[in-house]
Amino acid sequence: MSTIAPAPPKTKQTETEPTAASASAADDHLDGLGAPIVAKKIDRLATATITVLPVLLLAFAVWQTWNRELSWNDVLIFVVMYVPCGLGVTVGFHRLLTHRSFKTAPWLRAVFAICGTMAIEGPVIDWVTFHRQHHAYSDRPGDPHSPHVGHGEGLRGALSGLAHAHLGWLFEQVQRGSAERYAPDLLADPVISFIDKTFIFWSLLGLAIPFGLGVLLGGTLQAGLWGLVWGGAVRMLVLHHVTYSINSLCHFFGRRRFHTDDQSRNLLWLAPLSFGESWHNNHHAFPTSAFHGMRAYELDLSGLLIATLERVGLAWDVQRIGAERQATKTLG
Ligand SMILES: [Zn+2]
Ligand SMILES: [Zn+2]
Repeated sequence: MSTIAPAPPKTKQTETEPTAASASAADDHLDGLGAPIVAKKIDRLATATITVLPVLLLAFAVWQTWNRELSWNDVLIFVVMYVPCGLGVTVGFHRLLTHRSFKTAPWLRAVFAICGTMAIEGPVIDWVTFHRQHHAYSDRPGDPHSPHVGHGEGLRGALSGLAHAHLGWLFEQVQRGSAERYAPDLLADPVISFIDKTFIFWSLLGLAIPFGLGVLLGGTLQAGLWGLVWGGAVRMLVLHHVTYSINSLCHFFGRRRFHTDDQSRNLLWLAPLSFGESWHNNHHAFPTSAFHGMRAYELDLSGLLIATLERVGLAWDVQRIGAERQATKTLG
């Protein structure tokens, strides 16, 4: 049970969010939090299922792989599913829909939202609501998944905070701001609302595709099941924990380059698998930036995709942070 007290006003707003909702939420804490949401039994059961089932299937896959060569088809199907689902979350849910860091054609916006939904990290509007709330209250009471709030001191507090930020918050009662408050723009968008309401359909499609690919490539039903294990369960497991790590590890380990009012950090080794999302201190300093990697060596595949889309005319109004603006927040 987490009791969330009203947060003190921020002394320094890190970056103005593009939505009226999140900007005003930072000034109006009680309204922003809305009513406490009690994780319902059915929600907990669903979360437990999508958390535990992939682990069991991974164990099964490892055991089976012991008895059979890991087929290249398994690896291929994993990659073919991991990349679009991952980019659907990072480019679609996060940079496009949460932070509006670029604009794109309506059809591509829908494609990104669908790919992100297939990652099975919750319906798109819920995802955006939680994430905008995270930015409004970063590492203060009201942040849905901070490793630093209310977990005590010392090693025990640190481990408990990390566990909460990584996975625990999905099972606990958290105070979630309402979508009306945090994501009115998406509620008013008929296409995004439709994708949000049909979450189960897209989730199942994200499992049917690797099964179909398995049958297509292997020619047997058994190959289809292997496709489902690697392109469905294992892909889901890895992508979930990469996303969770942004919330836990990237507020705990790594380097801080910019001044922010939170504990966000840049974690180099997580950049390839997270498609650049682990430059998390950069992101908290400049949330509207389409690019989280801000130096030549800061690998940011999501940013690379946005720049490519811009080059071919499929992305515009791409938000960039110039060197001068970066310098205003650079730590000495
Ligand atoms: Zn964060
Ligand atoms: Zn963000």
